[in-house]
Amino acid sequence: MNTVAPPPDLLEIQALQAKLVSALRPILAEDGLLWEPEDTIPYECDGLAAYRRMPLAVALPENEAQVSRILQVCHAMNVPVVPRGAGTGLSGGAMPIAQGLVLSLAKLKKIVDINPFTRTAVVQPGVRNLAISEAVAHLGLYYAPDPSSQIACSIGGNVNENSGGVHCLKYGLTLHNVLRVRGVLMSGEIVEFGSLAPDTPGLDLLAIVMGSEGMLAAVTEVTVKLVPKPKLAQVIMASFDDIEKGGNAVAAIIAAGIIPAGLEMMDKATTRAVEEFVHAGYDLDAVAILLCESDGTPEEVAEEIGRMTAVLEKAGASGIRISKNETERLTFWSGRKNAFPAAGRIAADYYCMDGTIPRRHIATLLRRIQEMEKKYRLGCLNVFHAGDGNMHPLILFNGADMDEWHRAEEFGTDILEACVELGGTITGEHGVGIEKINSMCVQFGEHERELFWGVKRAFDPAQLLNPDKAIPSLSRCAEYGRMRISGGKLPHPELERF
Ligand SMILES: Cc1cc2nc3c(=O)[nH]c(=O)nc-3n(C[C@H](O)[C@H](O)[C@H](O)COP(=O)(O)OP(=O)(O)OC[C@H]3O[C@@H](n4cnc5c(N)ncnc54)[C@H](O)[C@@H]3O)c2cc1C
Repeated sequence: MNTVAPPPDLLEIQALQAKLVSALRPILAEDGLLWEPEDTIPYECDGLAAYRRMPLAVALPENEAQVSRILQVCHAMNVPVVPRGAGTGLSGGAMPIAQGLVLSLAKLKKIVDINPFTRTAVVQPGVRNLAISEAVAHLGLYYAPDPSSQIACSIGGNVNENSGGVHCLKYGLTLHNVLRVRGVLMSGEIVEFGSLAPDTPGLDLLAIVMGSEGMLAAVTEVTVKLVPKPKLAQVIMASFDDIEKGGNAVAAIIAAGIIPAGLEMMDKATTRAVEEFVHAGYDLDAVAILLCESDGTPEEVAEEIGRMTAVLEKAGASGIRISKNETERLTFWSGRKNAFPAAGRIAADYYCMDGTIPRRHIATLLRRIQEMEKKYRLGCLNVFHAGDGNMHPLILFNGADMDEWHRAEEFGTDILEACVELGGTITGEHGVGIEKINSMCVQFGEHERELFWGVKRAFDPAQLLNPDKAIPSLSRCAEYGRMRISGGKLPHPELERF
């Protein structure tokens, strides 16, 4: 028989895989370890499906002790580990490493304790965000941070991305709604961050683990705060015939001392796309639509809706509608909540960007995006958390056409760098992952990046837990600097080029 020997590196990979599988098998249940390609293929990417890679194997532990033993084995074998929740991340944070293990925390999905007196719940990391609110609804409580993916995403992922949502303007991000996080370091050691008390002695390491993108510890338990469910919620839908007026109205509401329960904006292209999808009766002539929600007691809501209406009228709203009942409130929100699937109906693919800018620059960024649409010959829908200044441009393209995909990538990078130029950040709520790692070189200088590395090394000296994500290396930034020369000037000329 004429056989062709596989290249030596493939043999090496197969040998490493066999060694890893036999070391992990005794720790896990029969169905808790996957390594055949047909089993591991669902793990090759997260929500950023444009980037894919097959892992060596996928481990699905069922308890913290197993997580600890898995990490000890990988540490001893020098095998990198990528923690994974529900895989809805949009920046490639859970994308596998070719010669690494994916550590899925999806089977740790118990709600361990609900305490209505302390208004807290202790949950395992694989519990879905919405499942917490569902489990405490009978107590008149809920968990406030509400990413649009809340039906699917896990609380472990939310902690590691410091996720946000419509309610976060008023109630805070994940960081502000979590009291304690328990996790396992790459060495297998179990650690706890934060406490049930409002303040803890020593450095606040809870804030460090929030948004750490699976790079510091595998999170195994989270204690979340619960808040009382408001008696009433009402939403104003305001139309604007000019983007500048809409942007200024957002700033005017906040300047009036009002913190709405939600303050979201859609541009004309988005309104058109969602109206075709949900038929909610949106104003199709409006250049921008603002949704401003108020929640609380009926008296509080009536007073706040009155004040917001006055501010919106003064800011030049061309139309104002106030929801008359819960059905109408949900109808007004239906377009905003379905903006992503609506984008999926009008283009083969869309690329969701995520950057934050000071609220006063919303109109400026939207105008710049319009210019970029012409430059890159691609359409873009704008739908965003206006109250936070967190923009979510959806760049429309056809992934089957590589040239369109490259243009979409460049378009996205330009948007992020425009955010930095306007005094904002390259990330709002979707993390850095692999998607925005080059843009980190634009946002942060060498000294700041070295500080980030210092934190990483303190938790994971061997740099095996989700390496190559979120914090760029010096050489990556130097390489990126060489590629992106703006106005004839090399960014960060102080860096040594390799
Ligand atoms: C349609 C859609 C809408 C979205 N809307 C929003 C939104 O409104 N707001 C928002 O903030 N995000 C949004 N997202 C992004 C995403 O849902 C969030 O980032 C979410 O927190 C990811 O959770 P996950 O469980 O899917 O995490 P994954 O995608 O599995 O992982 C995300 C990151 O967390 C790490 N990680 C996951 N679990 C653990 C763990 N237990 N221990 C250690 N590290 C871990 C991973 O390594 C990775 O770096 C949206 C995504 C989609 C697809």
